Amino acid sequence: MRKKMVAGNWKMNTTFQEGETLAGAIVGKKGEAPGDVLLIVAPPFTHLSALAPPLKAAGVGVAAQNCAAEAQGAYTGEVSARMLASIGVQYCIIGHSERREYYGETNAVLLKKVRQALDVGLHPIFCIGEVLAEREAGRHFDVVRTQLEDAILPLSPADFERIIIAYEPVWAIGTGKTATAGQAQEIHAYIRNVLAAKFGALAHDTVLLYGGSCKPSNAGELFAQPDVDGGLIGGASLVADDFIAIANAF
Ligand code: PEP
Repeated sequence: MRKKMVAGNWKMNTTFQEGETLAGAIVGKKGEAPGDVLLIVAPPFTHLSALAPPLKAAGVGVAAQNCAAEAQGAYTGEVSARMLASIGVQYCIIGHSERREYYGETNAVLLKKVRQALDVGLHPIFCIGEVLAEREAGRHFDVVRTQLEDAILPLSPADFERIIIAYEPVWAIGTGKTATAGQAQEIHAYIRNVLAAKFGALAHDTVLLYGGSCKPSNAGELFAQPDVDGGLIGGASLVADDFIAIANAF
């Protein structure tokens, strides 16, 4: 049985005090979510060391939104995977489309980040997905396959077992446009097949999240698809009631 998962990406939102309040609200409402749905939150770096203990004590997983491609050294402004692990972070979002687009992160860089995260025991939440022009040209299958070939298929089976994949069509992120449940299932099944061609039965246990304007009103239909194991949630994860309602949509 694959795990059900709902992960909230806070992005560059909330002051520390606002983040404390939001985390407190999520902890307070966690009991309203089904016990078999793993909730994860990804606050900004500045919040992690203070928020990780209460979140983890409540059974909420803690993720970073990024990590450095190098282990340590003269990389001003970077935060290493080892630093994150040392404060109790368990997951790390890698390859979000905003990192790819605004910070020029290539699949080669992302493979290095994935390896850094794995080396210190973090679970990468690896994001893939096509932009609108690629979808309209019918190239979305090729795009996600290349993203997987470059940054996930080179891993050993033991490392691959610790990967979570988030399919996020870039045209659906923060736009209010969601992939239909049929579109999500079609490409999630394709992703699982690409993974299975390399990793065999292990791919049946890989958690595949959908991300892109997922909210309480559409999460139920998306999560009902056989290859959609949950969601990576942006905007709606900043409202504790909505985040919990999405977990209740399973
Ligand atoms: C995201 O950025 O990962 C995301 C899914 O954002 P939103 O839910 O706001 O579309």
